[in-house]
Amino acid sequence: MKFPTIGNIATTSVVSIDINKTISDAIKMMFESVHRNIIVIDENVFRILTVNDILNIKIQNVDLNNSLKSLRLSTVSVAHKDKNILEIVDYLNCEIEYICVTNSDGSLHGLVSHTDVTSSIDPETLMDNFCLQDFLKLSRRAKWVNKEMKTLDLLEEMIKNRYESVMIVENFKPIGIFTTKDVVKIIKHNEDLELPVSNYMSSPVDTISKNCSIKEALAFLKEKHYKRVVVVDDNGDMSGIITQKELISLSYSRWAMLMKEHHDELCQINASLLNKSKKYEAMASTDPLTGLYNRNKFLELYLSSYKTMAERDNSMSLIIIDIDYFKKINDAYGHNVGDEVLVKISQELQKTLRNIDIVCRWGGEEFVILLPATDIDNALFLAEKLRVHIEELNIDKIGRVTASFGVTRVVKDDDLRSIIERADKALYEAKASGRNCVKASF
Ligand code: GH3
Ligand code: MG
Ligand code: MG
Repeated sequence: MKFPTIGNIATTSVVSIDINKTISDAIKMMFESVHRNIIVIDENVFRILTVNDILNIKIQNVDLNNSLKSLRLSTVSVAHKDKNILEIVDYLNCEIEYICVTNSDGSLHGLVSHTDVTSSIDPETLMDNFCLQDFLKLSRRAKWVNKEMKTLDLLEEMIKNRYESVMIVENFKPIGIFTTKDVVKIIKHNEDLELPVSNYMSSPVDTISKNCSIKEALAFLKEKHYKRVVVVDDNGDMSGIITQKELISLSYSRWAMLMKEHHDELCQINASLLNKSKKYEAMASTDPLTGLYNRNKFLELYLSSYKTMAERDNSMSLIIIDIDYFKKINDAYGHNVGDEVLVKISQELQKTLRNIDIVCRWGGEEFVILLPATDIDNALFLAEKLRVHIEELNIDKIGRVTASFGVTRVVKDDDLRSIIERADKALYEAKASGRNCVKASF
């Protein structure tokens, strides 16, 4: 799942004004653009002028010809446009519901609001099972008043409690809504604040049942471009209001939880598959009796070693080992004892060889060892060492066991078949010379 960047979802039709302009310029700009908030550019800092600020200015009788600098405007959080949505969710918990999105040079790219975030949430990932009723208690800013309430009283209450909207009800039924947007209209037109609020409310109001799921509520907000859902019970009576912000934080926490669950589950599956594949790979590449590489794996490892040798212009050698009179061991002590001898000799080979050496059970009682970065003299020396170690093993029941060795060098443009043929020839010589010895063939 890929999260969009905030640059992708930001609204770029942002209205901004220089901090040296007057308050009256700002109100005019706000009214004409029908924006509830405008960005005030104060050198490198972005501030925000909200409807609430305008309300305060009106109530405190501030001179509208004053510069915006005289107001104590809040600064807005800033995030680079390449950040993804999840990185900014925390910012959305702050009082100001916008984040300034910047370009790489720090200039303003746009704004991200809760609306932008909601529209980018994929409803498919959200829960179906929780309904609005479960979350009504979270709607701490929900407020509803009777339609007879005096507008001025309501405005004062809105400032005091920082309500962004108030439902207007008549006999518990929602009949209208009064938001900060309506406040700008009232101030601009110098309306009579003594009149009841029903004169200025937006009406009628769209409602949604408290039995709706979060998913349905988000779809509803998305379709209608609303910032809040007005929730009613089965009789159509007012139950509460849930803001977009609350729905988003619910959705995101749920989303994050799903992702985490999914992530853990995927990790588990991945680990078990990895385990299995390692097991299968080991089974396919090793000899079950001795644990050494089998012939198939040897061929693969030979190719990569040969490539390295050619690239680095290195030397490489190969040894073939055949246990002497092994048939007799089997005949005298039985097949199981023969197997034990194979295991003991394999362990001895691994013990004596370096990590980079590749030792494989070629078949029966024959072993092949590839020695990267080793010239023929060193290979002969190593073969002799192995021969002595095997001879000195002193295996239970049997005592002394010996082996014969054929050694050859690997040269450029060699192929494995001719290398093995040469090593076999040397081995044959070793057998012919009485066994338990090392011979080389070039
Ligand atoms: P030489 O000194 O000439 O090599 O004599 P040898 O008896 O070792 O010669 P040969 O290659 O004829 O015999 C190899 C024997 O190894 C034959 C076979 O029964 C035995 N053998 C092959 N694979 C296994 C195995 O996995 N376990 C056991 N116990 N014996 C095996
Ligand atoms: Mg043999
Ligand atoms: Mg043999």
